[in-house]
Formats: sequence, C-alpha cells, structure tokens
Amino acid sequence: MRDPGDKNWPDHEVDEFLDQIAARGEDYRHLVERLPVIVYAAELGELGKWRYVSPQVEEILGYTAEEFKRDPGLWSRLLHPHDREVALDMEKEDWIGERNTSPIEYRMQTRAGETVWMLDEAVLEKDDKGVPVWHGVLYDISERKLAEAELQRALAQQAVVARLGERALKDGDPEQLMEAAASLISEVEGIHSACIWEVGRDGRRLHLRAGLDAEVIGAGRRVSAARDSHAGAALDSGAPAIVRDWAEEERFTMPPILRVFGATSSLAVMIDGKDHPFGVLDVHATEAGRFGAKDVPFVQAAANVLADAFERHAADQALRHRVLHDSLTGLPNRLSFVDALGEALRRAEGSGSPIGILFLDLDHFKLINDSLGHHAGDALLRAVAPRLRGHLRPGDVVARFGGDEFGILIDRLADEGEAIAIADRVASAFTQPFPIDGVDHFVSASIGIAVARSSERAINAELLIRDADAAMYRAKEGGRARSVLFDAEMRAGAMRRLEVERELRHALDRDELVLHYQPVVSLRTGEISGLEALVRWQHPERGLLDPAEFVSIAEDSGLIEPLGRWVQERACRQAVEWHQQRPDARPFDVAVNLSARQVAHRDLPATVAEIIARTGIDPVHLRLEITESVLVEESASAIASLEALSEIGVRLVLDDFGTGYSSLAYLNRYPFHALKIDRSFVDALGIEQERTAIVEAIIGMARALSLEVIAEGVENEVQLAELRRLGCDYAQGHLFHAAMPEASVTRLLREGALGYSGIVPGR
Ligand code: C2E
Ligand code: MG
Ligand code: MG
Repeated sequence: MRDPGDKNWPDHEVDEFLDQIAARGEDYRHLVERLPVIVYAAELGELGKWRYVSPQVEEILGYTAEEFKRDPGLWSRLLHPHDREVALDMEKEDWIGERNTSPIEYRMQTRAGETVWMLDEAVLEKDDKGVPVWHGVLYDISERKLAEAELQRALAQQAVVARLGERALKDGDPEQLMEAAASLISEVEGIHSACIWEVGRDGRRLHLRAGLDAEVIGAGRRVSAARDSHAGAALDSGAPAIVRDWAEEERFTMPPILRVFGATSSLAVMIDGKDHPFGVLDVHATEAGRFGAKDVPFVQAAANVLADAFERHAADQALRHRVLHDSLTGLPNRLSFVDALGEALRRAEGSGSPIGILFLDLDHFKLINDSLGHHAGDALLRAVAPRLRGHLRPGDVVARFGGDEFGILIDRLADEGEAIAIADRVASAFTQPFPIDGVDHFVSASIGIAVARSSERAINAELLIRDADAAMYRAKEGGRARSVLFDAEMRAGAMRRLEVERELRHALDRDELVLHYQPVVSLRTGEISGLEALVRWQHPERGLLDPAEFVSIAEDSGLIEPLGRWVQERACRQAVEWHQQRPDARPFDVAVNLSARQVAHRDLPATVAEIIARTGIDPVHLRLEITESVLVEESASAIASLEALSEIGVRLVLDDFGTGYSSLAYLNRYPFHALKIDRSFVDALGIEQERTAIVEAIIGMARALSLEVIAEGVENEVQLAELRRLGCDYAQGHLFHAAMPEASVTRLLREGALGYSGIVPGR
C-alpha cells in the first residue's frame, strides 16, 4: 500500500494518499480499512504518538482509532505484563531503515478485559523532519495461538498417556500403577490432582485407591457411587461427568476431600472392565472452567490404559490360579503343593522345626468310579476336600495331587508323634459317610506320613513326597484304612532305589546290560519254536542282576524307554544272525518283553518299525510280550499302540495271563496272536483241581479265539504231561532250558541241542 519510493508517511499524507486512491474510483482505503488487520503509523517510543491507525483497531481491541491517536501511552498500557519487555525492546532507533525487522508477538488487553495475541510487523523510517516512525500492521493471531496451545496441551497429554501405557506394560501391579497414574496425570498443566476410585463390592460406594495423599488426612476415603456424586454419575452413566465450576454446580455435591484443597473444576470418567466397571478416574483443578469436553479424550484414554492393565492383571491372576489349582475341588494342585513345601523346607532350615506331609489316597475309589460313574467319583472328591480342610489348622495346606490322591502339608511340627496324631485326625474325617446321589457311602483312606527334620540329610519337596507316597503304599499293603509313617527301613529301601537309578543311567553307556534267552519249545514236536529275550544287568560290584532288581526302577524313572530300545535292537540283530547261521532251518521267533509304560508311549510303534528296518528282521518273527495289566488299565493310547504294532506285522503275546483280572471274553477286542499262561497256574497243574480246570478253560477259550497258547515256568514232567493233555501249543521252563547267555544259545544251536528230546512227535 505504500509507495515503494522512500517517502515518509505523516498521517495527513496517508490520508491524502488514501483520498487520492479513493478519488480514482478504486477504493483502496475502503480495502485497507476492511482488512482483518490493523494498519498503523506510530512514532518510535513507548509513548510515541500514533499518527494513523485503521479503524479495525476498535473491533479487535475495543478502543477507537481516535482514542489511540489521542492517547500516545495507550498502546504500551495495553501490553500484557508478561510481554511488555519483548514489545518495548523494539522501541530503539537501531531498527531505522532495517527492512528485515522480524515480526514480534505479544499479548494485549482489550477494553473488555480479554487477552488477544497480536503479531506486529513493521518497519521504522524517519519522516522528512527526521522523526522515526513505525509503519506497520498488527494481526490478531489469538486463534492461531489458541490452536497452538491446544496442540501443545494435546501433545503433553498424549505423552502422559504413552508413559502411563509404558508403565502399565512394565509392571502390572495395580496398586503401584494407580499411584503412578495419579502422579503422572497431575503433571499435566492445570491439573491439580488426579484420583482413582474403586467401586466397592456392594456397588454403592467408591473407595479412594490413589491420589490426594496429602489431602486425604481427615477427609473420607469414600464417596457415594450414586448419581449425586460426580464420580458416581460417571460410573452410573458410563459418560464423563464435567463440573465446570463447583461454586455453581447444582447436580452434584462436592466430596469433602475436594474441599480440602479447593477444587473448582473437575472431570470424572469411568474405568471400565470386561464384566463390570472397575471404578472412576477423576481430575481436579483450582481454576474455574478448566475442564470441558476437550479434556475428555485425554482423561478417558488414561482411564482406558488403567482398565486394560487391570484386565490383564486379573487375567494373569486367573491364569495363575488355574495353573496352581485343581479345577474339580478348587484345592491347590501338586505344583503349588511342591512350591509351598519347598518354601516350608527352606524356612525350616532356619527355624529347625520339623515339617510333615501326609500323602492320602482314597481306598477303592476306582470301585465308586466304575460302579456309580464318573460324576459320582467327582462328587466324592469334591466332598472330601472340605472335610480334610475342616480337620486341619488354617495354616496347613491341603492339595489334590490328581485322581484320588491328596497331599497335606503340616508346617512346624513338634515331632513325628504329632504328625501321626494329625493323620489320625484326618482319618477321622472319614468316619462319617459321604452322601452321593442321596445314598450314604462309607469311604476310607490310606495315609502315608513323612517328616523332614532339618538336621537330616538334604531333603527336597519331591523326595519328601516320594517318601510319603511309599509309606502310603505300605498302608495299602497293610490292609488300607490306616496310616503308616515312613521309617528308616523304608528310607533305606528308597535310598537303594535312588542309588540303583543313578547307576542304571550309566549302565547303558557302559554296556553293562546283557540279554539271556530262554527257548520256547513246541509241545507237538519238541523242537524250538522261539527264544524269549530276558534282560540282565552285569553290575560291576553286585554281579548279574535279574530284572526284578531294576526293571521297575527303570519304569519309574523313564529309563525303561532307552533300555527297551536297546533290548529290542539287540535281540533282533542276534535273531537275524542266528537265522543266517542255519539258513536251511525254519527261522524261529524272538520274543521281547514290554512293560506297560512302554506300551503307553506314543512313539513305540515308530520305534519298533525303525528297529525292524535297521536290523532287517522279518516282522513276523518278532514277538512282543505285553503283560496283562496293560489291558486292565484300558488306556486309549495303549490300545492304539497295540493296533499300530499289529499293523506293522509283529506278533503280540499277552504275558502273565491269569494274574490280571481281564476277562477272556474281552480278548478278541485286542490284536493278540498268542497268550502265555502265568507260571502260578502251571505250578498248580496236576496238584490243584481248581486251577487245573482254569487252565483247561483258558486253553479252550484261546482255541476258540484262534490264539496260540504258551505255558511258562514248566519245571517237571507232570506239568508237561498235563499241558500236552490239555492241548497247550508251546511251553518254556527249566525242564527244557533255563534262560542262558547268547554264547550258550549259539553253541547249542550249532550242536543242534536246543530243542527237547523228551517229546516224541505224534505221541
Ligand atoms: P516274564 O516275561 O514272565 O519272564 C519269565 C520269567 O520267568 C523270567 O524271569 C524267566 O527267567 C523265569 N523262568 C523261566 N522259566 C522258569 C521256570 O521253569 N521256573 C521259574 N521259577 N522261573 C522261570 P526273569 O528273566 O527274571 O524276568 C522276570 C520278568 O522281568 C519277566 O517276566 C519280564 O516281565 C521282565 N523282563 C525281563 N526282561 C525284560 C525286558 O527286556 N524288558 C522288560 N520291560 N521287562 C523284562
Ligand atoms: Mg515274558
Ligand atoms: Mg510271564
């Protein structure tokens, strides 16, 4: 608008200039005076005279152009005290002729008392009399400033939410998180304090959980959760409750705790949960009107971070509970029992007082399960749990180990006598019947007791449980419904087992295992039809050990798997070698024993197939002997294993038949090729009428099911004659050959002396 020539601008000239433009019909003056800016020309200095100011000044500052021109001090008086210095700092002659004076920003007070932000952009030039005059434009930038401040505030708020979120992820403990949230949120400008309220169990009150620590003394830590409190309203409606000014608030009454520090404005939002709300987060200011709708997103975001963290924590807790508790009875499970026991043992090291545990197993539980059904069994277990609890001290731990087994931890015992007395008390829990489906059932329990004295050998939780378990087995053997204290003798036995287990781990690597073989003889021809492989342990100190000394230990410790693989591979390799040694003879079978645990193992069929492939044995010549108890347990995985093995083509033999309780009638459900009558029946042949009759029935039934029958443990001619009379197919026993080392078999094979000459074919 100014002449680019270096002309000075006294106000009469400006007027003149504008008049000239107006006269040319182009209403520039009109334009200048309608721009949303203030155009001015003012002499330098705090009290410099205002020569021209466009009339918009009235719109923006409330004072007319006339007032400005009349009152040179007006401008500087309207400067905001904070910005005065910046603004007056410009009033220096240094700026004369400087084209690039940077615009400055300052606040001014309007006539109405409001604050506006001005951007002042001007150049200082001398007029023809040498007076320095500012020619400038003032822009009202209040809106931009407000937006900037809002942005700044939003950024600060976001930072708080982000820090809170980070904090929540680092440590889920609600208590500490709430404290952290209260202090983080009150860092935001204008927020005096933030509080977190948890809704009480009854839903009627909100309890202060964090915030206002300094103020809370004297004032109540609770407020009503009803609508008359602003927090209650937020909880009730789920919508934020804003109090612009408590002095004018009519909907809510002010909680006393807020009065303590003089809250003037408040905002409350709900902290929601998945199933029910957790409570309320509210923020307070001492400045009226501080909170409005614009603050809701921030406070709600903080509340949501808390809600998520609480939810996560609750889920963690629930998971932890599930991991450590038995779902049927709600009791701690074995895992948490072991934890608690370990903890108690550690404490006992310091205190020196003994720790006792009881291992309790219900008697004949299987009977209830089988006869009344699983739901009855479950009902019984659920009823047992509170009974046990009721007979113990509050500090004692009762856990369910699984099935019908319970563990009880007695912290701080006087002596073993006290443990026995407590076991008796627990046993008395079973003197009353348990009503199941409206019928009273009497149930008893066998209890094993183990006590750890801190002076004793290093003991850990698992060992103590093992001791108590062993004692419980003694109680069962002793006729059930009793308790047995684990004693020194049992301990010695247990120690021996541990020792054997330790040594057995090395026996495989050190090649200490060997196989002996017992021939199986055809009762029709006297010829050898197969060899049963029986494992032995050539112990470096104890000599040759029978399986009875180590197989059950191998089963308990899981060593049976590598041991079993070794036996199978060795026996198959040897059988193939012997076949090759006599290419013209009919190949005989080799039988390998499997224990129940091996059969239950998922990998068994794959292992067997692999061994067949590696050794090159024809699967029809491999027999796997499985003891009858596998069927009694009727485990689904065992049955699947049997099916898979039979698919491979190996022959399955049911060993020790007659010792389990499996009924002959069930036999056709399983893919067995042969059954082996247990030695105890063979022993009775020709002596005991009844058992001889049973053997006869077994052989008849086997025949009907097309199963081969083998008799084991044949020691004399009488037994042999009876077996032949009853039509038994094969037999083994000391009468023919005892189990013998590999080398002996090889020699006898070479000599053709492995069969039995006492049987003449056809007779
Ligand atoms: P089993 O399979 O019933 O084996 C028969 C047992 O009776 C063998 O005892 C055998 O030596 C013995 N015996 C054979 N004939 C007579 C006889 O005329 N009179 C008497 N009194 N006994 C006789 P051993 O070798 O001590 O095996 C005992 C058990 O150990 C076996 O019973 C079998 O269940 C298990 N076993 C043996 N080797 C293995 C193996 O490699 N793996 C697995 N899992 N178990 C095995
Ligand atoms: Mg056998
Ligand atoms: Mg047997």
